[in-house]
Amino acid sequence: NFTTRASAQPLKNADELIDSVETFIFDCDGVIWKGDSLIDGVPETLDMLRSRGKRLVFVTNNSTKSRKQYGKKFETLGLNVNEEEIFASSFAAAAYLQSINFPKDKKVYVIGEDGILKELELAGFQYLGGPEDGGKKIELKPGYLMEHDESVGAVVVGFDRYFNYYKIQYGTLCIRENPGCLFIATNRDAVTHLTDAQEWAGGGSMVGAISGSTQREPLVVGKPSTFMMDYLANKFGILKSQICMVGDRLDTDILFGQNGGCKTLLVLSGVTNLSMLQSPNNSIQPDFYTNKISDFLALKAA
Ligand code: PLP
Ligand code: CA
Repeated sequence: NFTTRASAQPLKNADELIDSVETFIFDCDGVIWKGDSLIDGVPETLDMLRSRGKRLVFVTNNSTKSRKQYGKKFETLGLNVNEEEIFASSFAAAAYLQSINFPKDKKVYVIGEDGILKELELAGFQYLGGPEDGGKKIELKPGYLMEHDESVGAVVVGFDRYFNYYKIQYGTLCIRENPGCLFIATNRDAVTHLTDAQEWAGGGSMVGAISGSTQREPLVVGKPSTFMMDYLANKFGILKSQICMVGDRLDTDILFGQNGGCKTLLVLSGVTNLSMLQSPNNSIQPDFYTNKISDFLALKAA
């Protein structure tokens, strides 16, 4: 059941690609910014695309902020982006629960940071956990039994710098003791680039712990799952063939675009370099690759 894709082509004619789609979905880290700094030429590129009537959407797997908090980040970086154009995996978790009519009288146990709590609150869901459980310790006295809230109907797991054994056990109890309890992951990125100096364990590490103890696989709402793509296509009424997904990571961004049937462009301004793309161990080939999105301004057909 293999589908072989042609090797990615260097982007030569940006105009042709721009004309061939209505919408650009941009991944954020590695495409728009790196950590807290804007990547060169991004404002001019986004302005040019808007002036040509393109819809721009921004999707990030980083669940630590809400879309409102990302709105502030875009503003701080001098980018004119509306909250409604931003789809973080924190928002995706809340949107997913809404899409299945998750009961408002049930609770969500959160392993993750503030962004998830903010989005759940905005969507009107009750939750517990999150940063509040960060300092909790378990004292293993003989006969000690951890209680859990039986009205928890979903456990949402995202990147969490305050992850601990208390959270693992609480989440595990919710899932194991209630077979109907949902297990939702914002994303499963193996590693992330919290600093330039090295790779850091990503959201997939927290998800893996809960998956390991419950022996259940989560439902992923972030990239590369199709949930967010379907959500976007529905919300804006766009055909997926009219979308170009632009990202710096093969197993999340490019796969996300391909799973959705979109055109895909890999930029080398983030975590993937040309030798990784061309390695025989890599089977994920975007349609095109280029150094950075501001190449759009320079690459015209000869
Ligand atoms: N998860 C975390 C915790 C991150 O710090 C990052 C990038 O900074 C990501 C995921 C990936 O984000 P994106 O999808 O915008 O590349
Ligand atoms: Ca990225």
